[in-house]
Amino acid sequence: MRKQIAAANWKMNLSYQEGEKLLDDILEAGIQLAPHQYTLFAVPFPYLIMSKSEVANEANFYVAAQNCHHKKSGAYTGEVSAEMLQSIGITYCVLGHSERREYNGETNAMLAEKVNSCLANGITPVFCCGEPLDIREAGTQNTFVAEQLRESLFHLSAEVIQTLIIAYEPIWAIGTGKTASTAQAQEMHHYLRAVIAEKYGTAVADEIPILYGGSVKAANAPELFASPDVDGGLVGGASLSAPEFIAIIRALK
Ligand code: PEP
Repeated sequence: MRKQIAAANWKMNLSYQEGEKLLDDILEAGIQLAPHQYTLFAVPFPYLIMSKSEVANEANFYVAAQNCHHKKSGAYTGEVSAEMLQSIGITYCVLGHSERREYNGETNAMLAEKVNSCLANGITPVFCCGEPLDIREAGTQNTFVAEQLRESLFHLSAEVIQTLIIAYEPIWAIGTGKTASTAQAQEMHHYLRAVIAEKYGTAVADEIPILYGGSVKAANAPELFASPDVDGGLVGGASLSAPEFIAIIRALK
């Protein structure tokens, strides 16, 4: 079965101590993940090592960075490279979150470089894509999101692209409390899988987990995750509450 993933995105929230307590509270629930189920915690850089040691003995629980720079090293004050992440044992990195695209001017071309940099360092990208509200209202969301995939990922070989995780996050649903309907999420995920299949074949497209992100919470996760092409969620706000995130992990197929 395709990997099913509950990924927490803490963004720029929580103190170190609050983060540690949140992880303790979630792990105390003693969730046993099936071999195809995974949980990721995308935490701020200063919490990566602590979080990694918190989950060290938990099967299929991993830590992710929320971003990395596309260059290997050099005069980029304040930046963190994929090589640095690799040197502390980080194996997942969120790339292209809409907040970074908006506030940090990340382009599809820049993200292609970040993807390459992660892969060169043994880090699996969790590649975010999704359309803003005006694009959704104009009805051109499919072309918009397919373009994000094509420009940032379609230079990869079939062997490599099938190791990635994609997160579809309609921007109008992030942090707004407005979730895409289950039908809207399924429709986009199915479409993206078809776009991937067109270039790489069905077997490759069927291998790639596509997570939904945008106001996922305990109450809507079971219905969203039950859709055949929705392989779990990338969760912001609700991942900051232990009971909410525990329920979201438990909603994985
Ligand atoms: C996110 O941070 O990727 C996200 C989807 O946030 P939220 O769940 O708060 O909408």
